[in-house]
Amino acid sequence: MGGIVAIVGRPNVGKSTLFNRLIGERRAIVEDVPGVTRDRLYGEAEWFSRRFWVVDTGGLDLEAQEEIPAAIRRQVLAAVDEADLVLFVVSAQEGITPADESIAQLLRKSGKPVLLVVNKVDAPVHELYVPEFYRLGLSDPIAVSAAHGKGIAELVEAVLARL
Ligand code: GDP
Ligand code: MG
Repeated sequence: MGGIVAIVGRPNVGKSTLFNRLIGERRAIVEDVPGVTRDRLYGEAEWFSRRFWVVDTGGLDLEAQEEIPAAIRRQVLAAVDEADLVLFVVSAQEGITPADESIAQLLRKSGKPVLLVVNKVDAPVHELYVPEFYRLGLSDPIAVSAAHGKGIAELVEAVLARL
C-alpha cells in the first residue's frame, strides 16, 4: 500500500472523471457513511509498478458566499485528514470561483501536502488560463484533461514523488 490520495474540489470540476482515469479498469469501493450526504469512493491505482489509493470525495456543494454545509465539510475534512496527499481540482475553463477560494483556504489551514490540478485543459488555448491559478497560493498548477487523458502521466509522477 503506497499511500492515500484524496481528490477534492467543488462540483463539476471533473473529480470523478479524474478518479476513474487514475484507477482505470479497477472497481471502486463505496464507503457508506451513515448520516453523511455523500459517500466516499475508494479505488486502487497502479502506475509505473507502484500502487496507491485514490479517494473521490462527493465534492463541496457551495454557492458563492454560502457556508460550506457542515456534513459535507466534515466529509471532505475527514478525507483530507486520512490522506497523505490531496489533489485539489479546479477548472481551466471556468477559472477561479469563490468556492475554489474557500476550499483553497480550508486546504492551506489543513497543513496537508496539496497538488493543484487544473483540469479541462483540453486544447492549447486552455493553457493560457493555467497561470492564474498561482493566485490560490498552493503548489504550481498541474494542467490535465481528465476527459481526454492529457497530462495524467505527469500528474501521476508528481503524486508518486510525494508518496
Ligand atoms: P465532479 O463533480 O467534480 O466529480 O465532476 P465530473 O467528473 O462528474 O465531471 C463534471 C463534468 O465535467 C462532466 O460533464 C465531465 O464530462 C466534464 N469533464 C470532466 N473532465 C473534463 C475535461 O478534462 N475536459 C472537459 N471539457 N470536460 C471535463
Ligand atoms: Mg463527482
